[in-house]
Amino acid sequence: MSRIFLDNSATTPLDPVVLGAMTEVMANNYGNPSSIHAEGRQARALIENARKTVANALNCSIGEIFFTSGGTEANNMALKNSVRDLGVTRIISSPLEHHCVLHSLDAIKMAETATVEMVKIDAKGHVELDDLRRLLAASNEKTLVSLMHANNEIGNLLPLEEVAAICEEAGALFHCDTVQTMGYFPIDLAATRLSFLSGSAHKFYGPKGVGFVYISNDNIIKPYLDGGAQERNMRGGTENIYGIVGLAKALELAVAEREERAGKIRNLKDHFIRSIKATYPEVAFNGDPDNAHYKVLSVSFPESSKGDLLLMNLDLNGISASGGSACSSGIDVGSHVIGHLHPDSKRHTVRFSFSHHNTIEEVDEVIAKLGGML
Ligand code: PLP
Repeated sequence: MSRIFLDNSATTPLDPVVLGAMTEVMANNYGNPSSIHAEGRQARALIENARKTVANALNCSIGEIFFTSGGTEANNMALKNSVRDLGVTRIISSPLEHHCVLHSLDAIKMAETATVEMVKIDAKGHVELDDLRRLLAASNEKTLVSLMHANNEIGNLLPLEEVAAICEEAGALFHCDTVQTMGYFPIDLAATRLSFLSGSAHKFYGPKGVGFVYISNDNIIKPYLDGGAQERNMRGGTENIYGIVGLAKALELAVAEREERAGKIRNLKDHFIRSIKATYPEVAFNGDPDNAHYKVLSVSFPESSKGDLLLMNLDLNGISASGGSACSSGIDVGSHVIGHLHPDSKRHTVRFSFSHHNTIEEVDEVIAKLGGML
């Protein structure tokens, strides 16, 4: 049985072109980028070319891109270093952020180095911008706003430019978790003022365990990992050359093919929405599908005795989807995002997330098979 992978917000399969670029480097480049001899210089050039690719994609300077082990590290770095090194004493965030942000905020609260305030979320799961303005106006403390660009569970999109402008006007720093949107939506850092943003290669058909953080030139922070002088003293440790090369190749492809991929994915999602509504009129959607990432659809199924087994039954039928965020243990313990939006609901949520590799036939098969599981 060939499987149908509709869990592309959790991760995406490695693009064969990316694999090719990585294996080429694995086979031929073993130099340590910190060495000054030819092998070292070759490896250094690979990393700096990759940095240039990322900086070009975001329209920022190469000195503002730092490679990390992924989105989690990038987000930890932005939040914790802005408190430690930039004098931030207040962070405004939202209850719908990814756990790597929420748990970093817990750690900051525990250390009592900054206070954390949560912005209000409206009924559709969007950040209430008036509440953000109110919170910003209420204090003169040095503040960092940390809000995600697209929610990984319901897909809701933040109006990035508007939030950046609100933060700029209030003199606040702005960190945006762009892990779900990197490569999918254009981001122009010359036009949109951000202090930090984060990316993770495995969300855009690159390898796992590599990502990056953008840190704007106005924000000089101290090392996140103490060690050698790698990443311009910001993150010690011999660089993950293969991962970095893979990340850059994957981002280059994602940017070059963005419109084509987006069109295909939008078509799949629209078809899914139309078909599921026509076949099972009692389904609903979490969040605001009309103003969401085109790859994510969070479907709310009515309460039923078989509901708890829905994900397992999908899996047994060769369909991979997710109950909430699949980024931590893989155990469906209920989602903090759905819990916040619908605290008393007994309905069952399945997140379907699409890729340009999926087909209309796959969607039709999923809709047909769902019938026996509800
Ligand atoms: N932020 C968001 C919105 C995510 O969906 C994820 C998913 O894993 C992360 C951060 C963490 O990224 P990584 O898996 O690279 O640590």
